[in-house]
Amino acid sequence: MNTPLIDPFARAIRYLRVSVTDRCDFRCVYCMSENMTFLPKKDLLTLEELDRLCSTFIGLGVEKLRITGGEPLVRRGIMTFFDAMSRHLDSGALRELTLTTNGSQLAKYADDLYAAGVRRVNVSLDTLNDDKFAQITRWGRLPQVINGIDAAQKAGLRVKINTVALKGFNEDELFTLLDWCATRGMDLTFIEVMPMGDIGNEDRITQYWSLDDLRTTMAERFTLTDLPLNTGGPARYVELAETSQKVGLITPMTHNFCESCNRVRITCTGEIYTCLGQDGHSDLRGPLRASHDNAHLENAIRAAIALKPKGHDFDYSRQSVDGQVARHMSHTGG
Ligand code: SAM
Ligand code: SF4
Repeated sequence: MNTPLIDPFARAIRYLRVSVTDRCDFRCVYCMSENMTFLPKKDLLTLEELDRLCSTFIGLGVEKLRITGGEPLVRRGIMTFFDAMSRHLDSGALRELTLTTNGSQLAKYADDLYAAGVRRVNVSLDTLNDDKFAQITRWGRLPQVINGIDAAQKAGLRVKINTVALKGFNEDELFTLLDWCATRGMDLTFIEVMPMGDIGNEDRITQYWSLDDLRTTMAERFTLTDLPLNTGGPARYVELAETSQKVGLITPMTHNFCESCNRVRITCTGEIYTCLGQDGHSDLRGPLRASHDNAHLENAIRAAIALKPKGHDFDYSRQSVDGQVARHMSHTGG
């Protein structure tokens, strides 16, 4: 392996999240507008380019690869890419290949994902109520996702549920979701809604349900113990003594996790964002397309990592969305 990627704050980059498409079969209200204009196909990295890019990062020390989107499983031919990445699992260079999905296509792909070496998937699900599910995802239908989760578990994939905490929407389902996940042997992580995309400030702040409040409500029924797990990301974990359930809390705005950040993100157009909360980015598609020589690409990656900022600027504390970034989550990949 070449010299590993170390940023200016001595953080080694081990975790790469890659968005393979900006398209999606859902239109979640906090993520996309209903009439999205998607990028021209020629702007997206091809599956071969994605392979080259990810393989280069793995050669530079990335051990964990998470595929996201948009909805990664609506990208045509995506299973070819997963199959190709399995060679890095076989060689031991890659420790984990995983994805974040809305679950709509899991019934179709769960077995293939397992065969490619995927062992865990994150499925995003904000409610267990059919009508509310249709309301929040606009185009999604709950039974399709439940079938997908059933198929994933049957295929042997460990499923973690990601739930965006939304005030006045799923507050009343906190215990239902916890019970449901416990019964099915699934971990659950709550995510605070983030100021992404072009939804107005007021809407977003009314949607904002602080995970400190969520935690307080959880503590009314369960004995909580903080777990010392450090994933290098914004998730903290608590254990519920009564069920031994591990619950993740992702609070990118209210808690500082940046010191241990070991991750970078690549958009579906090959831009690298070294911090989720900042707009600074570098282009890797140009270097990818300019030359078949990977040295050129590697230099561009190293130059981008050298610009990784110390931390992000999200701040809701003054009831305006300071540090808001304009791009959509579906572009950067959540
Ligand atoms: N389509 C896939 C899915 O929904 O899991 C992968 C991409 S999606 C952008 C990744 C994650 O980002 C999902 O868990 C989604 O709930 C979350 N997300 C999208 N917009 C968000 C926002 N504004 N704030 C917090 N989480 C958001
Ligand atoms: Fe699609 Fe995921 Fe965004 Fe929902 S959160 S619109 S499923 S990309």
